[in-house]
Amino acid sequence: MAIRNVRIMGDEVLTKRCKEVTIMTPRIKTLIDDMIDTMYEANGVGLAACQVGVLKRIVVIDTTGDELYVLINPEIVATDGEQEGYEGCLSVPDKSGWVKRPNYVKVKALDENLKPFELEGEGLLARAILHECEHLDGHLYVEHVNGGVNGLVNNDQLREEEDE
Ligand code: ZN
Repeated sequence: MAIRNVRIMGDEVLTKRCKEVTIMTPRIKTLIDDMIDTMYEANGVGLAACQVGVLKRIVVIDTTGDELYVLINPEIVATDGEQEGYEGCLSVPDKSGWVKRPNYVKVKALDENLKPFELEGEGLLARAILHECEHLDGHLYVEHVNGGVNGLVNNDQLREEEDE
């Protein structure tokens, strides 16, 4: 287990397009394990590889605390509906902003064995998938915040919102 250093907004690596993963290597397996450890350690609900300084199209997501998804080369294939809510990012520490997103998303990706699968998400899961996929193209949620980025909203509050 290794915790990696999370890059903070202003770091160039967060503005770059990440590259497709074409082969699985021990190094990439370790990267994924470290990303998972880093996400949980930071109490985040998702993390993209570029956030730990690696320009590969890999994201890890867990919005409930016990439902872990590893998405390699994810591709959004459908979205529907609308949701609004506070969003945060481990690369923008102690901040949150009000972001409008689709309420449903369907994503195509590869798993850790590079086997294709599809994942559908609603609510917070949809939000996390969309947020993380944006990272892979060098974008941050703050680019489409309504009303400015403000104080801290923690993940427990995000989860509570989800339950309402
Ligand atoms: Zn983020």
